[in-house]
Amino acid sequence: MPLIACEHCASVQRRLSLRRGELAACERCGTVLWRYSRLTLNDWLAIALAGFVVFCIANAFPVARIEVYGAQRSATLLDAIAITWQQHHWSVAIMTGTAGFALPLLQLLALLWVLVPLARGRLPAHKAQICRRLGWLRPWSMVPVFLLGAIVSLVKLAGSVQVHVGLGLPAFGLLAVLLTMLGRLSPRALWRHAETAGLAQVPEPRYLPGHVLAGCHACGLVQDLAEQRPDEHAPHCVRCHAVLHHRKPQSLARTWALMLTAAILYIPANVLPVMHIASVTGDSGHTILGGVVELWHGGAWDIALIVFVASVVVPMTKLLALLLLVLRAQRGDVGGLRSRTRMYEMVEIIGQWSMLDVFVVILLSALANFPGLMRISADLGAAAFGLVVVLTMLAAMSFDPRRAWDAAHTNGVLTHMKESH
Ligand SMILES: [Zn+2]
Ligand SMILES: [Zn+2]
Repeated sequence: MPLIACEHCASVQRRLSLRRGELAACERCGTVLWRYSRLTLNDWLAIALAGFVVFCIANAFPVARIEVYGAQRSATLLDAIAITWQQHHWSVAIMTGTAGFALPLLQLLALLWVLVPLARGRLPAHKAQICRRLGWLRPWSMVPVFLLGAIVSLVKLAGSVQVHVGLGLPAFGLLAVLLTMLGRLSPRALWRHAETAGLAQVPEPRYLPGHVLAGCHACGLVQDLAEQRPDEHAPHCVRCHAVLHHRKPQSLARTWALMLTAAILYIPANVLPVMHIASVTGDSGHTILGGVVELWHGGAWDIALIVFVASVVVPMTKLLALLLLVLRAQRGDVGGLRSRTRMYEMVEIIGQWSMLDVFVVILLSALANFPGLMRISADLGAAAFGLVVVLTMLAAMSFDPRRAWDAAHTNGVLTHMKESH
């Protein structure tokens, strides 16, 4: 039976086969390691193919069309990105174009590249590289966030103009569901499928003195690692050639640096307007909180609440939770490790949702674009806000929750091996 290393506490366990409805959780920290899945490789291939077709439809048809005094505007996601670019808000255009369009497309193509041969019982060409790339881009693919952003912007517009929903919106709804399902196919899961099909080797690690067991962060293979001297090059995974780190290097310093930069940028993100509205009644700038208050007074309290949670509660919670985790890890505190691991998982999951308002701004600038009558454009706050989201996500990725567990030494599995720090 192959071994599996927990990503959050590093304990190494045997991978048992599961029955229907079961899931395997880490004995030590409670992280879900893998779930039973009825879906075969052929089913996954069908879902990925459907995802690709729906992706094309969602981007080819407008999300909505609006009417102001007989004049009409409709916009797809790509129109919104192009208009933001033309208005010289390059960083906002790049962030939304990457997270809303380029990465979801690459994710689907990478999955198809791997799944088509796997479903036919063959090993895909360049599987190791493609799977590694898939691991990098997965957290940044934000179709569900864009979908919610589209709904919020339509509610905002519906107060003052006539809004017609386009085919693009339901297509994005379906795409969000399909991509959420496909999110289960992590690189590790793809390698497990290949192992089950007998296409990938699973060498047993040697239990030598002075060696530690480490799971490859890319393919999940557990292998033995000789203790490393600082002047040596980091070793590579024997199966997928990813760089193997027993623990993420300089994790706390990196997390601190990214977290502090995000905290500083959080001030302009909230003080500066995220969008600018020019209309016949005059020009005005709108901040994130101002937008929430406006929605609330306009009677859309439910949407106001969603925007408030995504744009204010989520970034604050993320920064505070990370701060707490980093401080406790630095002190070598070993209390409440399981709840700290849950807290870290929460930070990872909520990460991308704060991008909501940035998507709202670009869609509004594409739809409410009637020069001389009403014109919405992105503003500096949106760029700052997007950067805060990116930086807090990078900060969470740099943090290594396993280090806190290293201090605990409660592990029965690894006690016979020497722990390196
Ligand atoms: Zn664990
Ligand atoms: Zn590997």
